[in-house]
Amino acid sequence: MKFIPSLIFDFFLPRFCPGCNKKLSTQEKPVCGDCISSILIADEDRLQYEFDRKFRSERMIENFYSKYVFETDKTLQHIIHALKYQRQFKLGILLGEILAEGINLLNWEIDLIIPIPIHHLKKAERGFNQSDFITKGLSKSLKIPYSTKSIKRIRYTESQTKLNPDQRANNVADAFKVGEKKKIRGKNILLVDDVITTGATILECGKVMVSAGANSVYACSVAIVEQ
Ligand SMILES: [Zn+2]
Repeated sequence: MKFIPSLIFDFFLPRFCPGCNKKLSTQEKPVCGDCISSILIADEDRLQYEFDRKFRSERMIENFYSKYVFETDKTLQHIIHALKYQRQFKLGILLGEILAEGINLLNWEIDLIIPIPIHHLKKAERGFNQSDFITKGLSKSLKIPYSTKSIKRIRYTESQTKLNPDQRANNVADAFKVGEKKKIRGKNILLVDDVITTGATILECGKVMVSAGANSVYACSVAIVEQ
């Protein structure tokens, strides 16, 4: 039964790949296979190097994983843009599923998955947090629960894109607060973001999690920005 309505839906509302604008068939994922396989994968050496640079000295983040390397004007940027600004939530779910394939291989013992929150004013403006959808795909694939209420963004921070690393760290200082301490205490938490740049936001969230009694904090993102 489900097949027929989706065919009709496809006829009236055709879907297009956000990477190459090709029309997608009903059976295809929300990004075509060629586009998915064109995205640069973050290899082990790069992940180790980035972990050492961003997180090791602070001892707040146990480990981290990014599936891809973010490249300007390439496929992944178009996909994330379509998720954030064209409300193509299925892209978020798909990115979460792809992320799960990598995380599954790492044997991390995670109890709870938490997306990095955006401020409620920004959420009101945009209507959603894109990382929530990535988290949903991730949670379903890993069969690990998630919570979107365990941590809140209490300060409206300006966009990080034009700030240098020090400014970024200051910008997110004290920006987060734990909403449900009971859920965090003693747990191994996995934080989820769409793109990790300096890691300042992840670190700040990690601090808040650890001070709320988290046993350990892991982090992941769809992509990492090379700097
Ligand atoms: Zn495509």
